[in-house]
Amino acid sequence: MSKILVSACLLGLPCRYDGKEKPCLKVQQLNDTATLIPFCPECMGGLPIPRPPAELQGDRVVNSEGADVTIQYRNGANQALLLCQTLGIRKAILKSCSPSCGKGKIYDGSFSKTLKIGNGITADLLLQNGIEVLTEEEL
Ligand code: SF4
Repeated sequence: MSKILVSACLLGLPCRYDGKEKPCLKVQQLNDTATLIPFCPECMGGLPIPRPPAELQGDRVVNSEGADVTIQYRNGANQALLLCQTLGIRKAILKSCSPSCGKGKIYDGSFSKTLKIGNGITADLLLQNGIEVLTEEEL
């Protein structure tokens, strides 16, 4: 069976900034035909649950309290890539719009729920390394 890296919140793990999950049935049903590997880059990068929401501002990731959390976001992205390389994972299904996991559109850094074109830190690193990335919205 092929392996797919999946944003852990889409599989029902309560790892979001607000301590909640974001289960997606369409993603969970892929479990019938693939081995789904849950991963939360923000948690694996060292951030707690819950945590203040964060958004990308240029190359930096800043949370709603003004703290720079770029290092944790980059740590989590590097760990996601290492996991994919170690296990031979060639595909990821990641949560849309997240500053870590989003692909194609993310929040614009103003904390006003406004979207802009761009990728989250983890999605971007995986794409740069030839890993196919889809969001749950693209399934
Ligand atoms: Fe979900 Fe990704 Fe945010 Fe973790 S970093 S809660 S996996 S969207």
